[in-house]
Amino acid sequence: MSHRPILVAGNWKMQLVAAEARHLAKEVAQAAADHSGTDVAIFPSFTLLHTARTALEGSSVALGAQACHPAENGAHTGEISTTMLRDAGCRVVLCGHSERRAAGVSDAEVGARVHAALHAGLRVILCVGETLSEREAEETESVLARQLAEGIAAVAESELESIELAYEPVWAIGTGKTATPDIAAAAHVFLRGQMVEKFGDAGRGPRILYGGSVKPGNAAELLAADEVRGVLVGGASLDGASFRGIIQAAAGGN
Ligand code: PEP
Repeated sequence: MSHRPILVAGNWKMQLVAAEARHLAKEVAQAAADHSGTDVAIFPSFTLLHTARTALEGSSVALGAQACHPAENGAHTGEISTTMLRDAGCRVVLCGHSERRAAGVSDAEVGARVHAALHAGLRVILCVGETLSEREAEETESVLARQLAEGIAAVAESELESIELAYEPVWAIGTGKTATPDIAAAAHVFLRGQMVEKFGDAGRGPRILYGGSVKPGNAAELLAADEVRGVLVGGASLDGASFRGIIQAAAGGN
C-alpha cells in the first residue's frame, strides 16, 4: 500500500492569460518549495501550459491538463491528445471533471480517456460526484458507484499507482457551498470501499481528493475527514495567497 503525501491540486479552468499564469505559477512553485512534504499540481488551460511549464522549471509542482481526448491523433477538431499533453510537459490529467461531464462526456467516454492517459504515461485524477437533485433523490452512492466503475473499467491493478480519485459534489463546485467533513467522509469511505472491492488491498493506494469550494479556512477540517487525502481546488487556486494558505493547511499549518 502506498503512503503518498497529501495532494493539493489547482484547477485553473478557463481563466487567466499568459502574464497572470506566469506570475501565479511562480507563486505556487514558491509555496510548494516552502512545504515540500506536500504534493502540489496545477491544471492551467491548454494555451497556458507552455508558460506554466517554463515558470515551474526546477520546481516539484506537477503540470497537469484539464482534459484529453482518448485518440492518439486524428480528425478531432478542437480536441487534444495525451501524446500532445506529454509533449507539452504534462505529468497528469483530470478525467471526468463535472464541467466536462455537463458538456456531454459520458461515463464510458471518461473511462476511455482514463485508459488513454495511463497508456500515454500520464497520471490521472478521475473526478466523480453527484448533482444536487441526485443527492436529494438519495442516489449519491449509485451515481458514485457508476461513475467510478466506468471510469476505472479498463484500469489494471498495476496502474493504480498512477491514479487518484477526486470526489467533487457538483452542488459544491464554484457555489461557495462546501460539503461538511461528515458528508465528504461518507462519500470518500464509500469510494474507498468500492476500490477495495475491485482491487483488494491495492485499492487503498490511490488518494481520494475532495473538491468543492475548498478555501484556506476550510481546508484543514476537510483534510482531517476520513479518507480525504488531498483537495482539488478551483476558484481559490487562482489567487496565490489563497492557494498557499491551502498548501499550508495541508502541510499541517506550518
Ligand atoms: C473544481 O473546479 O474542481 C472545483 C472544485 O472548483 P471550486 O473550488 O471553485 O468549487
